Amino acid sequence: MTQPSPAERLLQNLGVTEPHDIDLEAIAFAQGAFVKYGRLDGCEARIVGSGEHAIITIDDRKPRTRQRFSTAHELGHWKYHRGRHLACRPDEIGDSRNSFDPEPVADRYAADLLLPQYLFIPRAKKLRVCSFETVDFLSREFETSVPATAMRLVEYGPEPAMLVCHGQSGRKWFRRPREIPERWFPREDLDAQSPATNVLYGSNRRSQRASVGAEAWFDRREANRFEIEEQSYKISDQEILTLLIFSQSEMLED
Ligand SMILES: [Zn+2]
Repeated sequence: MTQPSPAERLLQNLGVTEPHDIDLEAIAFAQGAFVKYGRLDGCEARIVGSGEHAIITIDDRKPRTRQRFSTAHELGHWKYHRGRHLACRPDEIGDSRNSFDPEPVADRYAADLLLPQYLFIPRAKKLRVCSFETVDFLSREFETSVPATAMRLVEYGPEPAMLVCHGQSGRKWFRRPREIPERWFPREDLDAQSPATNVLYGSNRRSQRASVGAEAWFDRREANRFEIEEQSYKISDQEILTLLIFSQSEMLED
């Protein structure tokens, strides 16, 4: 576990010891911000502040998990970008590790506030398995979306794994934690033999976690020597997420 981030320190200072204690309206209120819900056009969330007080407005048509992420994102702006007017489309799967732009900074703050390491890691370790069953369980406990929770699971989870998103026209993005060497770069297209293909094009909402030859996912000669495990989950009609679990430790050597 790394040092607590500012969002995690805030939760600890407020005495949050369980996921269901992450009451965003109360946390916002403690920071001088009032959260209201209503119609927004052209953005999903916004914050208007003056002095020590702010009003956060969240689009009331979005799902609850999305509203929570947006509220946490605006609290990130309230901490770091006070005095600026920002109309937001919070990105739950944005890669925010090395950015100084206001939007990814607020996204990172939101992920830390909703899925803080000190509550997430012990629960993920206890579940032991990197799978969408684990993601479902944790997303219910933390009231977070499947993509946001799956991102956290590959970042801090119990097994070395990467997360890949595919649409009908190929790979859209992937997240690889530091423990997985950069030479494991996922292929653009799905392999016809991979169960992921059935999930993207078939009626199955998810596949079972199963072993496949690593060459189904990686275009490298050495991939022929290894097996990995994969499991896919349909997040919309057009998109799937796949967890790739690196169960052979030799693949993690540099
Ligand atoms: Zn924003």
